[in-house]
Amino acid sequence: MAMIIDGKAAAQALRAEVGREVEALLAEQDVRPGLAVVIVGDHPASRAYVRTKTRMAEAAGIAARLIELPAEIGTAALLERIGELDGDPDVHGILVQLPLPDTIDEAQVLLAISSAKDVDGFHPANVGALFSATRPDPDRLLVPCTPLGCLHLLRQTLGADGLKGQEAVIVGRSNIVGKPLAALLLAADCTVTVAHSRTRDLADVCRRADILVAAVGRPGLVRGGWVKPGATVIDVGINRIEGEDGGSRLVGDVAFAEAEKVAGAITPVPGGVGPMTVACLMRNTLTAARLQSGG
Ligand code: NAD
Repeated sequence: MAMIIDGKAAAQALRAEVGREVEALLAEQDVRPGLAVVIVGDHPASRAYVRTKTRMAEAAGIAARLIELPAEIGTAALLERIGELDGDPDVHGILVQLPLPDTIDEAQVLLAISSAKDVDGFHPANVGALFSATRPDPDRLLVPCTPLGCLHLLRQTLGADGLKGQEAVIVGRSNIVGKPLAALLLAADCTVTVAHSRTRDLADVCRRADILVAAVGRPGLVRGGWVKPGATVIDVGINRIEGEDGGSRLVGDVAFAEAEKVAGAITPVPGGVGPMTVACLMRNTLTAARLQSGG
């Protein structure tokens, strides 16, 4: 049976480390990192996510501000609000919770956050820096939180040098997860394949992987028979499915009960990558504050 990778414990340790570094920054430079979380409309899951993010930020000593705006706000008014936050020296990081209502131009909104405050790592300048660096340094660069969390779990599981030369297959090519994770794993000396909805013989491609990452959004897509014996499996998917009792539960993109019998190590859902994403947001806010205060 696979070792279960405890993302909750890893995230707690990372948040505690960030908390200590936040106190050091405050003591040495009189700077308390500030995070503004912007939510537009009343999407229930998004509301729960932003509440967790601001609560965790406060617990790590970060000054968190939750800005709740009505769904009817137009692009122009939202851009104005983001411009204010971007000009505020107490705000080091800005996160706009996605998805935004259809009436809003999402690309324009994300571009309005300056690259220095882009704690999600979505700004083209940060994306370009990630892809062009031979050795991207997450202490000097804002890297998207979920891929950064995956890298952290992989290093913890395989050791600092354990990624070198490994065959990594990432299923999913999104800008949020698949593509930036490919850049991070390439920089960590993995041989990287990015598979997607048009990939031929997906099961065969997955079976090659020493490191298999699923970031698709399809419950149980990756079957146990797709996993190479002993592989490390990182399940990024978060899918809510109906339970037999009429309630609902969260599952990943990997058929966990099958895969844990074959893999060497595997992340559960929930309790795997999810908590790491939030912890990496804290880490990025600290990084942004350090970089803006010349640290
Ligand atoms: P997305 O919809 O932007 O991208 C999905 C990708 O999967 C696409 O590249 C597509 O080509 C690929 N795909 C779709 N169907 C496929 C199939 N049948 N076979 C192979 N590839 C297929 O999704 P995303 O934003 O990258 O999110 C993916 C999943 O990860 C979702 O479940 C999302 O909720 C979850 N997620 C989790 C976290 C976290 O913190 N744990 C963060 C972000 C996203």
